[in-house]
Amino acid sequence: MAAHSAVLSMSKIINPFWGGRLGNTVKLITYEMLMLQPPPAKYGGRHTVTLIPGDGIGPELLNHVKEVFRFSCVPVDFEVVHVNSALESEDDINNAITAIRRNGVALKGNIETNHTMAPSVKSRNNLLRTSLDLYANVMHCQSLPGVQTRHKNIDIMIIRENTEGEYSSLEHESVSGVVECLKIITRNNSLRIADYAFRLAREKGRSRVTAVHKANIMKLGDGLFLQCCREVASGYPDITFDSMIVDNTTMQLVSKPQQFDVMVMPNLYGNVVSNVCAGLVGGPGLVPGANYGRDYAVFETATRNTGKSIAGRNIANPTAMLLAGCMMLDHLRLYDYASMIRNAILTTMNETRLHTADIGGQGTTSEVVQSIMRNIQISTKTTL
Ligand code: ATP
Repeated sequence: MAAHSAVLSMSKIINPFWGGRLGNTVKLITYEMLMLQPPPAKYGGRHTVTLIPGDGIGPELLNHVKEVFRFSCVPVDFEVVHVNSALESEDDINNAITAIRRNGVALKGNIETNHTMAPSVKSRNNLLRTSLDLYANVMHCQSLPGVQTRHKNIDIMIIRENTEGEYSSLEHESVSGVVECLKIITRNNSLRIADYAFRLAREKGRSRVTAVHKANIMKLGDGLFLQCCREVASGYPDITFDSMIVDNTTMQLVSKPQQFDVMVMPNLYGNVVSNVCAGLVGGPGLVPGANYGRDYAVFETATRNTGKSIAGRNIANPTAMLLAGCMMLDHLRLYDYASMIRNAILTTMNETRLHTADIGGQGTTSEVVQSIMRNIQISTKTTL
């Protein structure tokens, strides 16, 4: 189907669903430009993106992304790089990192980290983020149409420091039976993630940033993080700043999530809080996530699951990965394509009979994807 010409002829971009409270293209472009310049398109306006299938449901979901992109005539070519998580050698992940350096952008499934492998075998996902200095993990958690959840009207942006904290991979057994696991908090990285959160809040028209911490116990480490957030906040008088201890944060999230706007936090709290938030809006199959650095951007599902137990059964929810693909298209400034696919996903989500098992239905992955492609076709016909 040649959706291509219809997409290009769309005179107005529909409000970007994942653009939050923006509602117009100009602001979205401003935000993208502020944060990170995407690589320029190649000859013919096409982009090359690194695709890492990963493990579990990653390969099948990314095949669906390719299928939907092809159907929509998205001008993106994928360079597929496989990372074998069973190997101790770092050659595969280094190849993947080189490919991302070359292309500037990647879409990935989660790579399994086997706990039983030697401690020297580091998480491939973590290696990728730290090697490329993808310091800001961004997740936008919004209540979705058609998905039954306990809480309604959730609209939270989570900004997670992505390169240090508890994920330093610095552990040693100094004395037998005594393990020291180092949590690294630096002033530079805390200031840059805090600044990222405030800039994003301003660009998205948000009014409040909450720093999440445990500075009552980790007075130096989390104390420094909190202090950096305060310093950055003083440069954004238009945005209210407050802070909350991480344990209370999780309790507040499950009781009254609507109170949160933008949240910024160190690495591990970010992991926990993003999983809680994903659960609040319907689960890991629904929410996309992005990792931005100064030079590169990598997109994936927000909760970074492998979903090994449901792999190959045609039951995984493809929404989060497809929306991650849309975030990537926004990053490449292919806004029309991103909006078209996003709107088709939202229309499909309103059809309860197509819901996959994770959100209470009996639909299959491919039924959802077929419906999304049907909706893309309908939307292109109506805009012609
Ligand atoms: P692992 O052994 O790697 O932990 P898993 O499938 O048991 O794999 P996770 O990958 O941690 O668990 O995923 C957590 C839960 O979220 C699992 O119940 C998984 O089935 C579910 N899940 C993750 N992604 C999706 C998805 N896209 N659609 C439906 N369920 C999902």
